[in-house]
Amino acid sequence: PKIIVAIDGYSSCGKSTTAKLVAQQLNYPYIDTGSMYRAVTLYFLQNHVTLSNPKEVEMALSQIHISFRMHVGTGKNDTYLNGLNVEEEIRKMYVSDKVSEVSAIPAVRHALVAQQQRMGKTRGIVMDGRDIGTVVFPEAELKIFMTADPYIRAQRRQLELMEKGEMIGIEKIFENLKHRDLIDTTRAESPLKQAADAVYIDNSLMTLDEQVDMVVRLADE
Ligand code: C5P
Repeated sequence: PKIIVAIDGYSSCGKSTTAKLVAQQLNYPYIDTGSMYRAVTLYFLQNHVTLSNPKEVEMALSQIHISFRMHVGTGKNDTYLNGLNVEEEIRKMYVSDKVSEVSAIPAVRHALVAQQQRMGKTRGIVMDGRDIGTVVFPEAELKIFMTADPYIRAQRRQLELMEKGEMIGIEKIFENLKHRDLIDTTRAESPLKQAADAVYIDNSLMTLDEQVDMVVRLADE
């Protein structure tokens, strides 16, 4: 039987990389919900939306259409904002700097959570984010809560950005992760926290293969 695999955790702890590979092995689609919050943030920045103005936020949300092009098998996954491929743009630092403020707005969360729940209706899905096991799919059969040492997370993130040609100092990245973790764990609306029935994985000293194997094994149980 097909199940829902919910992977939550702190910024840059390898959730997406792991989730993508797990989905490939299970032959399920994979949804990176962070990319949806990033796409909304990009739209808000491009259109100079005032975050403190609920009317402007509602208006903007009604203009946003997010979709994915998933390539089952290769694990490649592109995010589209109103028909445009924004996969690269949404990973840039200026978006990371604003995304947690945007994600803390209740209207933004309501809109995206509703879309995520529709996408999971058919079951057989791997979804990663901050509130998947607690809010989006509290009934998920497998919940993972991932974390890693903050400095190791910053190093991994720096390498990832470097591979995309964005050279950013480790201190700046470390500050961004700390900033996002703080907002994500303390916001009023569905803060990041471990679900009571989630399996806790600290992957600081694990290889990617070990993590993927562990989650796939749990999914098969
Ligand atoms: O996963 P990623 O680091 O790309 O997520 C970017 C930001 O989006 C997070 O720091 C968090 O503020 C927000 N987010 C969220 N809920 C989710 C996924 C992401 O609030 N389910």
